[in-house]
Amino acid sequence: MVNADLSTVMQSWRKELHRFPELGYQEFTTAEFLQARLSEFGLEFFSGIAGTGIVARLAGQGLSPAIGLRADMDALPIQEHTGLDYASTNTGVMHACGHDGHMAMLLGAALEISRMPRPPGDVYFIFQPAEEIGAGARRMIEDGLFKIAPVEKIFGLHNWPDLPQGLFSVCNGAQMASVDYFDVTISGKGCHAAMPHSGNDSLLAASQIHQMLQSIASRNLDPLESGVVSVTQIHGGEAYNVLPETTVMRGCTRSLAVAVGRKIEARMAEICVGVAGSLGVTVQLDYRHGYPVLVNTNAEVTVAKSAAAASFGGSMIDLAPSPSMASEDFAFMLNECPGAYAFLGAGDDTNSRLHSPAYRFNDSILPLGADWWVTLAHQNRG
Ligand SMILES: [Zn+2]
Ligand SMILES: [Zn+2]
Repeated sequence: MVNADLSTVMQSWRKELHRFPELGYQEFTTAEFLQARLSEFGLEFFSGIAGTGIVARLAGQGLSPAIGLRADMDALPIQEHTGLDYASTNTGVMHACGHDGHMAMLLGAALEISRMPRPPGDVYFIFQPAEEIGAGARRMIEDGLFKIAPVEKIFGLHNWPDLPQGLFSVCNGAQMASVDYFDVTISGKGCHAAMPHSGNDSLLAASQIHQMLQSIASRNLDPLESGVVSVTQIHGGEAYNVLPETTVMRGCTRSLAVAVGRKIEARMAEICVGVAGSLGVTVQLDYRHGYPVLVNTNAEVTVAKSAAAASFGGSMIDLAPSPSMASEDFAFMLNECPGAYAFLGAGDDTNSRLHSPAYRFNDSILPLGADWWVTLAHQNRG
């Protein structure tokens, strides 16, 4: 198991990675750092997968199928405001989601496993670029991830500040939501604001559509299903006395089941057509599918929990895990391979909100995450 020395080393790696955060597909310095460490551990690795992705391999005894362990590499376009002595040195870029910690945990596990007797099956350490936006997981798959790493199960982990420190939370089935994006372009007939009857008001249509979209979750979905429709932008008009010709509305939708997502999409289209007809405007809906629902397979959830119980005690398993409506591109990997994605509680410190400029990764969970990876590799049976 991970000792105090390795915990200290992981902290120093994490702080070093924190100093040079890089956005998706630009993780060049990050990749160099990871490769240098993997070389020190004597592990062979493949680099340049999806641009900056890395897959390292540790040979097992050949008694069990290969297992994949994945960490994400990218940072966010956020100006850091933590005041930490190891704060970001890249202006406007910050590891505000803890991917620096995820990489440190997986590196720690790679070092620990390489020092122990061989695990039953091969272990692939997968460092993936562009999780936040850009679907790095999908691009790694397109670049042959599962040929380079022929694993039969795959696992991922995210630090979770909303859960108590060290609590391990994983759901059977959906763990995280899908996300889709939409642009609604409303074209009317612009006119003098004093003579509204001479035009067709695109702003009024936008406000009607906005309200109607809120009826999807409340009146079209089964109350026991989970779905979100959020309009996050409305752009229209520039003058006090002109009704604008065009208004654009943008946002995203989330769901925990494919059928719910398709129902939201279909209702959005119907609402756009209905409001267009009733107000005499043209409405164009551009609806794009983003990350799919992240679905854990039950057998691998059991494996994940038993490794967590062995690593840090059965009392630290969340007995009532609930999924998140946030999204995660590990979903693409789980669409190709059985596996599980878990949340590791990081405590409820007010400075630990994900994607906040004040976010601070809780280093106390580094050895927990690394222990979980090590145990997964060594408990890999059939
Ligand atoms: Zn994030
Ligand atoms: Zn994240």
